[in-house]
Amino acid sequence: MRRGPTYAGPLATMPLKLIHGPPNSGRAGRIRRALLDVLDQDPILVVPTLDDVYDFERELCADGAILGAEVTTFGGLFRTVAVAGGSTADRVFTPAQRLGAIAAAVAEQRDRLGPLRTSARRPGFPRSLAGLLDELQSAGVEPANVEAAAGTLEGSAYLADVAALFAGYAELRDRLGFADSHVFARRAVALLESNGAESWRRPVFLYGLDDLTPNQLALIRALAPLTQVTATLPYERGHAALEERSAPLLASLEEIGVDEAEAAPADPANTDSPLLFHLERELGAQSPATLPHDPKSVVFLRSAGARGEAEAIGLEVARLLDAGADPDEIAIVVRDPARRGHLIASVLESYGVPVALEAEIEVATTAVGNSLASLLDAVLGRGRATDLLRYLRGPSGLSPERIDWFERRLRRRRVRSAAEALAIWEERNGEPPSDVARVREAAGRPAELATVAAQIATAMGARAGAEIEVRGAGAIATAMTERAEVLDLAPAPSSIPRELAAISVLAWSGPAEDRVRIVDPRRVRAARFENVFVASLQDGEFPRAGGRSDPFLSERQRAQLGLPPRRDEESEERYLFHACLALPRRRLYLSYRDSDENGGAEAPSPFLDEVERLLEPGERHARGRGLADVVHRVADAPSEDELARAIAALGVDAAAVPLLDLAGAEPEVAGRLETRLAAARAAEAATRAPGPLSNPAVVDALGAVDAYGGTTLEGFDLCSYRWFVSHELAPQPLDPLPDSLIQGSIVHAALCALYEERPGGDPLPRSSSLGAWLTRGRELVAELAAERSLGESPSERALLARVEGLLARFLGDEARRGGSPFEPWLLEEGFSDAEEATTPALEIDGWRLHGAIDRVDRAPDGRALVLDYKVASKVTPREKLEEEAKLQLQLYLLALGRLWDAEPVGGLYHALRGTSERRPRGLVREDAAADLHGYGLSKTDVVATEELDELLDDARRRAGEIVARMRSGRIDRDPGPRPGLRNHGVCPPFCDFAPICRRDRAPVEPLADEEDDER
Ligand code: SF4
Repeated sequence: MRRGPTYAGPLATMPLKLIHGPPNSGRAGRIRRALLDVLDQDPILVVPTLDDVYDFERELCADGAILGAEVTTFGGLFRTVAVAGGSTADRVFTPAQRLGAIAAAVAEQRDRLGPLRTSARRPGFPRSLAGLLDELQSAGVEPANVEAAAGTLEGSAYLADVAALFAGYAELRDRLGFADSHVFARRAVALLESNGAESWRRPVFLYGLDDLTPNQLALIRALAPLTQVTATLPYERGHAALEERSAPLLASLEEIGVDEAEAAPADPANTDSPLLFHLERELGAQSPATLPHDPKSVVFLRSAGARGEAEAIGLEVARLLDAGADPDEIAIVVRDPARRGHLIASVLESYGVPVALEAEIEVATTAVGNSLASLLDAVLGRGRATDLLRYLRGPSGLSPERIDWFERRLRRRRVRSAAEALAIWEERNGEPPSDVARVREAAGRPAELATVAAQIATAMGARAGAEIEVRGAGAIATAMTERAEVLDLAPAPSSIPRELAAISVLAWSGPAEDRVRIVDPRRVRAARFENVFVASLQDGEFPRAGGRSDPFLSERQRAQLGLPPRRDEESEERYLFHACLALPRRRLYLSYRDSDENGGAEAPSPFLDEVERLLEPGERHARGRGLADVVHRVADAPSEDELARAIAALGVDAAAVPLLDLAGAEPEVAGRLETRLAAARAAEAATRAPGPLSNPAVVDALGAVDAYGGTTLEGFDLCSYRWFVSHELAPQPLDPLPDSLIQGSIVHAALCALYEERPGGDPLPRSSSLGAWLTRGRELVAELAAERSLGESPSERALLARVEGLLARFLGDEARRGGSPFEPWLLEEGFSDAEEATTPALEIDGWRLHGAIDRVDRAPDGRALVLDYKVASKVTPREKLEEEAKLQLQLYLLALGRLWDAEPVGGLYHALRGTSERRPRGLVREDAAADLHGYGLSKTDVVATEELDELLDDARRRAGEIVARMRSGRIDRDPGPRPGLRNHGVCPPFCDFAPICRRDRAPVEPLADEEDDER
């Protein structure tokens, strides 16, 4: 089809030529041929992105035409035109300098702003404002225009703020003697208009551009009278997705004046699959035709969870590559690659597939950006110890062991400020980390600090090594260096961490040869591929959820300022989806998730329904990965590692050789995998059978232990593996001591001191002396807290208040008990073989018991009662002593009789946190129960003399067995009491060693009485 010129003004004779048509109409071939026809005139081809530049250059190279043509983006065309007109680009802001100037203008104007004052304090504000200024400037709008509009428009105070910020930026830019890309673009147009006839003859071709800014249109308008300008446009009259979208641009070009318009019809020969051609043609049509589904051309992938989707895509990509496809003929299109692309990229990389993730990454999310921002925050900003640790944990170059030590120290001392933390570091190392010293030294000189930040980032990037880290470090270094070059733009020291948040970098840029591209549909809308995956086809993702309105301007304000209306979001999303359908020549994969990782429903994209409307009715078989698919099928495994996992998941008895045969593994791969699987199985078997210990040095060391504490024996009885890890391997926790331990130590010490001091004169608190005991108790808590440097933070003060409460309740209980012949006798009394001990360890059947008894009360007749304080809400009654692996109380009763020559009549645990049940539990000889009635003893804790002897004998026997097992190194995952007792084989809920012992924590079968309990 040919159209006549539609513009009849003074430029009516200009040779602007338009080639319009849908995708697959051969517009690229036409423009290439037209370009080759004028190769001797040094033509310029303008394409949307740098990737398109690489692609076209490659194609032109193949045609031998690269020497006669220049391929560039619109930015490059402005530069070329300006340089041809005699201008230079050496005083034009780089993107970092422009953002710096905008940030500086925001900082300068902030206190004078009205409605935008609060938003202007947010870290992302300068970047958002930069977007608005880009739009205003590319439309030729100046600060004065905005200011004038502010006087007449709705929301004038708001627009006045925008005008002030815009003017502030323009004033700073001009004062520094710089232009920005928009000023430069307008200068190029002006030069062309003033002396273009002498300076410009080169034909210009525009391909793949579906949006042009007013400045770009102005350049075309200025070029058109001087040379041949040929533009392609994705436009087709009557096409649902294309007509409405491209009509405004067509109108703009027609307004300039189209000399010749050529409509390129869709050509089925450009697509291998009739079904793919059909989808592109019919999408969005009112009454579309339908075709039978051809699963070779259109594949539906339905998965559960983002990882499942990434694995399903990875598997299909691996299949394609295995079948001989070129990686750079595969594209994975994601509406938001910055959000969804990483997982897909990492899964593909783990399968050995090279990828190019074309997503903008904020450098603040890289290890380098995060670490650098944390360093600056620690030294110059918020000054928190956590910031310092975050820096150290990044690519700081310091060894993890040093940082572990440091973090442990900070946590244990509850250090919160970076200054205090650095003092601890310097105390041990003599000097601060070198990066800290450099930042401190440059702190007062912004330009120098920016240079130091650039150098630290570069060094961190080299250490981190990963591609994205090196790129991120490079982007930071460039931005900081460029800012430092213009002194007024050097960032304020405390603002650098926030400014890092505004820097972004492409995870991949440049030629994507031999790589699978993961990309936004907008970036590839001018390209074609053999195979295309459209991923994350979810409602709200593609199409995006509505409501992303302009954060600054309403539609009315835009119109008043001469900005074009915002595109209708729905038709824009449909346009992009249509572009996706037009991308593949051979096969299209439409991938979506029907649930998240937890099985929660996820809504697929309505675009899938639109595709469905174009297919004849019928059942569609969707491939994909469900929630139960943890590994791939052996025959499908997309990589060596995945094959190893697939076979390993079949269990230890699965024969590797036939499975490797089934998977078609090469002999070399099969050999490697057999070795790996055998090693993994051996390692797994070893962890399943952790004992007995066999290393003679370890067994000898265990056998040589002479004396044992009651808690050690109880710990071994509870679970020997847990005892071995906690007692012998002794992993050091990073955190401060748990609150319960701190509370316990203070309560024990305070009670010991109180009963020694006897405030008010009574050996035990009585109602008359309780006040004195309580007062002294509070004083003791304060003294003990001061000794432990506790009480500064609110959480510590709350802890101490709880300790005072526990103490007060216990003393109250004691005062209410009334008269008893038993009075405190021994307090925190130790017995051991240590030199300073006054009482030796107790010899029992070839081993020795040592310990320290909280308190022993004695009656004048020599009868003695052991008391044990527990910071717990429940304690163990007599009948559960063995079931709960309790031995200490009984062993202390034995010690009491033998070492102090007393007559032990019982032992009681006090639950200091008990609320409803506060009476002590344990065991008491029946003939002493009457004298201890104030304790409200439970009947089941009162035992006959013979029974007490039996219980003590039983404890002695159990302790002897435990010692024998310990000495022989019989370590196993054997939680709970002996078989037949409740909770045998059940791990206690407080044990968090499962990741070390790797025991499945699923509960064992309930015992009969447990079932009874439940009834
Ligand atoms: S998780 Fe269970 S088996 Fe493992 S150490 Fe703890 S108590 Fe023992």
